[in-house]
Amino acid sequence: MSAIKFGPLTPHDFSSPEPLPRSAKQRVKSLLESGRLFRYQQVEDVATLEQQFSKYIGSRFAVACNSGGCSIFLALLALGVKPGDSVLTCSHTLAPVPGAIVHAGAKPIFVDTDPNTLSIDLDDLERKANASKSNVVVVSYMRGRVPDIDRMLSIADRCGLAIVEDCAHTLGATWTSATTTSNVPKHIGLFGSIGCWSLQTNKCINAGEGGLLSTDREDLAAYLTVATGSYGHFSLNGASPPDVFVEKLYPSMPNFSMRLNTIAAAIALPQLGQAITNKVKAWDRNMRILRSVLDSCQHTRIIGTDPRYAPAWSSVQFDLVGFDADMIKEYLKRAHEQGIPLAWFGGAWKGFTSTLRDWKFADGTG
Ligand SMILES: *Cc1c(COP(=O)(O)O)cnc(C)c1O
Repeated sequence: MSAIKFGPLTPHDFSSPEPLPRSAKQRVKSLLESGRLFRYQQVEDVATLEQQFSKYIGSRFAVACNSGGCSIFLALLALGVKPGDSVLTCSHTLAPVPGAIVHAGAKPIFVDTDPNTLSIDLDDLERKANASKSNVVVVSYMRGRVPDIDRMLSIADRCGLAIVEDCAHTLGATWTSATTTSNVPKHIGLFGSIGCWSLQTNKCINAGEGGLLSTDREDLAAYLTVATGSYGHFSLNGASPPDVFVEKLYPSMPNFSMRLNTIAAAIALPQLGQAITNKVKAWDRNMRILRSVLDSCQHTRIIGTDPRYAPAWSSVQFDLVGFDADMIKEYLKRAHEQGIPLAWFGGAWKGFTSTLRDWKFADGTG
């Protein structure tokens, strides 16, 4: 135990959110004064967010919704997941991911985690895709960790799997496919059928609550436009397909009323674009410092990333080498006393961290 020493850090709560941009405050004030908080009454805010988000990410379409968890639910329905179906997903993710699958009436099949990437184990994905009838996988890039995306795409192709990308931790991160001749980095979230994003306080964009969906497919975007709850006002969406595609679906599908409200959009808007780029740069600088500290200690090891991947380091993961459970608990306790929020993947459910063991509702390991 005597080997664990922290430097002279000033106690500081590293998990507390940053203040929000002043322009958001002004916009929210005027929205409150107008009372127009419904997105189809005060059209500009949510529609502009959808437009600017699709432009930033590089997707043809984007639809806003009320949360990241609901964005995954809506994505599954758009892809035709029916009650009783199986949906493949990562075993290392956050509870709303299996929650969204159960919300859609489906059953999660949990795929192992690859200790080398801390992301979905692609061999196990292929095995479980072949052994099940599932034709959808929700790949959750938990803590910004991604698998070999090129290989994931070829497996999905071989197994006939549609991919939903849970990008709650990867906003601002890109992957450059070895196969693209032009070698252009693409935003994470553009590789599957639908990308899902969260605007909850603990994410890159903090709007309190909220979600975004991105896709290049007209049929999926039309579905999402109606399903989020557009009451026939779909022409007022910001980055949806032409009305003719949406109108066709309108009478035949439910309105789930999972809209984003104008206040959340007004708060999110100034955090887009350059603000993300700045954040990613700052995280990169922090990561370089942390890496030099953690790598110089024989007990800590940061797991590396693929050279094709440009991460957005909103959090850092490291191994504690040669520590037993008691030592890890002591390490967490001391870090906590310094205001450093550490979570232990192997530990007990606490706050936001839970694991497969805790998701009794999901009932099954495939
Ligand atoms: C936050 C989060 C979600 C869900 O987002 P909510 O907006 O809280 O519903 C999904 N997946 C991961 C990995 C997350 O961190």
